[in-house]
Amino acid sequence: MTTHRAGHFYIDETCIGCGACDEMCPGKVDAVQAITGDFRGRFKIILEDCIDCGFCVPVCPVACIHDARKEGVVEGEGGYMRIKELQAWAETLKTPET
Ligand code: SF4
Ligand code: SF4
Repeated sequence: MTTHRAGHFYIDETCIGCGACDEMCPGKVDAVQAITGDFRGRFKIILEDCIDCGFCVPVCPVACIHDARKEGVVEGEGGYMRIKELQAWAETLKTPET
């Protein structure tokens, strides 16, 4: 049986789209994803894929990658929902599937 897991890192809307975090995210994990259709070329973290390594944080030039645990966001499903809320701006930018 597979246990649900998810990371705790999220990107806020001040991302400048430099792509440095995408370069740092381990290849097999590839949890950082460019937001399709965002005119500012910003990125988001796919929580379900993130392994909480933290490699992306120090390379961000604008410090917009956050560890939700350091902000007091709790572990577990409730925590993940809160993290998704914090990154909800990215979800609103999704372009519809064609
Ligand atoms: S914490 Fe690690 S796995 Fe998660 S997005 Fe950053 S580099 Fe990728
Ligand atoms: S390193 Fe920071 S500014 Fe650059 S793409 Fe990633 S989240 Fe955005």
